[in-house]
Amino acid sequence: MSGFLEATVSRRVEWAPGLVTLELSANLDPFEPGQFVNLALGVDDGGLVRRPYSLASAPGAPPEILLTCVDGGALSPRLCALAVGDRVLVERRAQGFFTASWLPPAKDLWLIATGTGLGPYLSLLRSGVLWERFERVVVVHGVRWRSHLAHRAELCALADARAPQLAYAPLVSREASDAEVLGGRITAAVASGALEERVGLRLASDRSHVMLCGNPAMIEELGIVLAERGLNRHRARKPGHVTVEKYW
Ligand SMILES: Cc1cc2nc3c(=O)[nH]c(=O)nc-3n(C[C@H](O)[C@H](O)[C@H](O)COP(=O)(O)OP(=O)(O)OC[C@H]3O[C@@H](n4cnc5c(N)ncnc54)[C@H](O)[C@@H]3O)c2cc1C
Repeated sequence: MSGFLEATVSRRVEWAPGLVTLELSANLDPFEPGQFVNLALGVDDGGLVRRPYSLASAPGAPPEILLTCVDGGALSPRLCALAVGDRVLVERRAQGFFTASWLPPAKDLWLIATGTGLGPYLSLLRSGVLWERFERVVVVHGVRWRSHLAHRAELCALADARAPQLAYAPLVSREASDAEVLGGRITAAVASGALEERVGLRLASDRSHVMLCGNPAMIEELGIVLAERGLNRHRARKPGHVTVEKYW
């Protein structure tokens, strides 16, 4: 298919059943951190099934995808089942506007994700594009279970190395909180002030820009909570404080 390259799975990390990182050997065109590519596999009628996936790797590194297996989905269960050495089609050219170059100036950048919505933030953090632009960067990762906190060790190490510029705030919604992991949903933690208290930073229209990625329900609900605080959707023609990438 035009625009697609045949890639090989070069590394596979299984964080939990149905949650994997796939590293591919493929030479993609240069891309901006935060962009996505389509992955595709053949189907019985000779066609292809293709879906978009955020690149989690920094430009120049082997392309990496953080992937969840959606039960009954047309493509993701097949991608999750790929083993090292298996082949997959990957679009050569990444696309999308969920990138640092589309963000307006702000003091602080909040990178808020559910599940695999962490992927584009890994690319942004690994690429280093944020450190000159923002005084503080906060990564907020909400999942159901601790075992789904993919890349937790990497993010803890980066936050330690970059302290106090970078803070990492994981949340679990179906397990109890502890000293390092907040309990409950991201929207509730923002509404109650618990998240800001944990990271020691205010979410406010005079200093914050917020990126939201992943589950569309979280994006809608948190969008309402943020709008009540005067943080509105950022658009090319009407600058605001909230930039979103919905996964479905
Ligand atoms: C810009 C963009 C970037 C994306 N990046 C990623 C990524 O990095 N990693 C990733 O795992 N997915 C990502 N997705 C979602 C991905 O494109 C597919 O929708 C997903 O893998 C399901 O495909 P499927 O063919 O298995 O399911 P389909 O048969 O197409 O069923 C789609 C349904 O699956 C559910 N669903 C889709 N994505 C998810 C998800 N991530 N978690 C839970 N449920 C989901 C929704 O209910 C959706 O209606 C992205 C989507 C977009 C639009």
